[in-house]
Amino acid sequence: MSEENLTQSSNEALGAKLFSFAQKIINMPRSITGQAVRDTLREIQIKVPKLKICEVKSGTQVFDWQVPLEWNVKEAYIKILSKDKSRDGKIICNFHDNYLHLMGYSESVHEVLDYQTLKAHLYTLKDNEEAIPYITSYYKRRWGFCLSHKELLTLQEEDRYEVLIDTSFTQGVLNYGELIIEGEIQDEILVSTYICHPNLANNETSGMVVATFLADYFSNLKVKPYYTLRFVFAPETIGSITYLSLHMQYLKEHVKAAFNLTCIGDDRKYSFITTRDGNTLTDKVVRHVAKHITENYFEVPWLYRISDERQYGAPLVNIPMVVVSRSLTNYPEYHSSFDKLGTVVTESGLLGGYNFALKCIEATLQEAYPQVTVFCEPQLGKRGLYPDLSSKETWKTKAFYDARLLTNFLSYCDGKHSLIDIAEILHKAVWELYGIVDVLLNNNLIKIR
Ligand SMILES: [Zn+2]
Repeated sequence: MSEENLTQSSNEALGAKLFSFAQKIINMPRSITGQAVRDTLREIQIKVPKLKICEVKSGTQVFDWQVPLEWNVKEAYIKILSKDKSRDGKIICNFHDNYLHLMGYSESVHEVLDYQTLKAHLYTLKDNEEAIPYITSYYKRRWGFCLSHKELLTLQEEDRYEVLIDTSFTQGVLNYGELIIEGEIQDEILVSTYICHPNLANNETSGMVVATFLADYFSNLKVKPYYTLRFVFAPETIGSITYLSLHMQYLKEHVKAAFNLTCIGDDRKYSFITTRDGNTLTDKVVRHVAKHITENYFEVPWLYRISDERQYGAPLVNIPMVVVSRSLTNYPEYHSSFDKLGTVVTESGLLGGYNFALKCIEATLQEAYPQVTVFCEPQLGKRGLYPDLSSKETWKTKAFYDARLLTNFLSYCDGKHSLIDIAEILHKAVWELYGIVDVLLNNNLIKIR
């Protein structure tokens, strides 16, 4: 097998592994608290054994918020009561058929209602009549069912409806997962993703899958990474607020770059949302990586922030977090039952998202300000780094081209240009320069830290 074929087949194998892990964890009735969050974290822990599963008690004050009561679902459905035998007894909106049928954090109810009363508790998507929407009401007590608009239109005004929702709100805990991979220094790279959506593929199974595989990859490095790496798997918003309430001061002092992974498994685009500042190290890295892996990417400003970066990047917190994504939330299946594995999220989509995030982390680990160690140009020939025959003809050869790249690179090693700065000037992806950096370091021609 040629090297290229080998890479392609190992990529395909990785894509298949990402996808099969997605199949394993997608179908769980997750919410911001509850058993399914713990079950999800345990599945991640099987792949990444050093993941710590942590808990914070319901009612704990976390900045301006409170950790909510733990919510769990036994069952939820609507039974049609009709004089028409063809409809009588039919069960619809069964939670166990699709977790999206029950509005997240619905309270218990067992009543027989007329159509109009029931309808006030039903949610559909008019612009996608076949899809079940994903709706939650975490902080106001109510109940509701979600169904396709098509199914709503089949309900009859003369029928009555037995509604059963059996849920519990208990003094429990909010769970999150944390993994710290020790680096050469205490300063860190933070990777965050959220774990609170039930059976939705791109938002957010994809984020959990990519973060898990990155955590696994960096846990098994033979050489310590330069920065310490921290992975956080927490329920969106309340989870990151809770996490920050425990660790903010340390994170503010030590996090040099932070990535939030979401909607990162579809095939359509590559996107990222910048920090408020727009010019932090994280922004610089992600902007560079995106530009060099694809022409089909979008940079979105902070004004359109969507997820946990809202907490990490809030004014008094200021942790430089960029959202690393494929289609962000700009896809028609978003927050509906159409956000599925196989159609929206694919092997190649997950693989692309994984490589995007991996390159961002690697580029951050490598980012440094190289400085040449000799005055004037070093003599490369005596080190075997420069062709020994120079003529108009040999100037066109690959050896000269490579040597030119190396000398151009060296000419910017002034301690003021970073690797990414130099890569931009040379119109290269920064990873194309890692080989040159190694050669120059091995020959003691540059120092980087
Ligand atoms: Zn969402």
